[in-house]
Amino acid sequence: MSNAPTAGGYRGRLAPSPTGWLHLGHARTFWTATWRAMNHGGALVLRVEDLDGPRCRPEFVAGIEEDLRWLGIRWQEGPDVGGDFGPYVQSQRLSLYRAAFDRLRARGHVYACTCSRRDVAAALSAPHAGDEEPVYPGTCRDRGIDPGTRVPTARAAVWRFRVPDGESVMVRDAGMGDQTLVAGVDFGDFVVWRGDDLPSYQLACVVDDHHMDITEVVRGADLLVSAARQLLLFRALGWESPGYFHCPLMLDEAGRRLAKRHDALSLRRLREQGVEPADLIRGWG
Ligand code: GLU
Repeated sequence: MSNAPTAGGYRGRLAPSPTGWLHLGHARTFWTATWRAMNHGGALVLRVEDLDGPRCRPEFVAGIEEDLRWLGIRWQEGPDVGGDFGPYVQSQRLSLYRAAFDRLRARGHVYACTCSRRDVAAALSAPHAGDEEPVYPGTCRDRGIDPGTRVPTARAAVWRFRVPDGESVMVRDAGMGDQTLVAGVDFGDFVVWRGDDLPSYQLACVVDDHHMDITEVVRGADLLVSAARQLLLFRALGWESPGYFHCPLMLDEAGRRLAKRHDALSLRRLREQGVEPADLIRGWG
């Protein structure tokens, strides 16, 4: 399976998580999203992905909007400007996620799982590398666990999406070219509903990209494997998928990808040091 090119007006999105300040890597990705929307004469949506519990803070939302504006990025829809596809903050969209989850459940695509992270790590024959989560070994797949079961940590069971083992999923990527990922090999059964009764990033993202009529997703290459997961969710929900454009990750001198710990490369600090947006954008070609 693969994602098909979409017809109609271009709609892109910026989907920051307000868990810290934007750094140079975000800025370049969001700049790419902006010029792709502009080149297509399309619209850009700002969506705040704030389901990550206490790590998300309101001051980061305001700070991110400020940093984006400083960079010269404008959006036509978002929490501050409204629009026809709102609300634009994920914590205000829970009923949409619940409805999609119920649909997945009714269609038999998900199962309850009581494994802890430690159980998953212990069941793997080989250690996993990188930041991708380990391929779930399928321990709870056919156990028919009662979803009301509480795990020893008093957390409720999570719900995983059953991936079609061995199926190739092709992500047609406008930036990286066609990328093929194999279900059950490159990624395993993934969580769609969490133990704290909230949707996972994967489900919330698909529901929003669908309901907000997004035609192209521009984001960092660390989410390429997630595009394959998300394509499976689009199919299971009976929805058309968007196009993708994954941007290369920005690395520090040690070859590590930029993260919140790189405070010196946050747009905030750079601005304080007198860096101008044009200095940054020029470097991105
Ligand atoms: N909210 C995610 C992040 O900040 C991005 C998700 C996406 O673009 O799909 O990493």
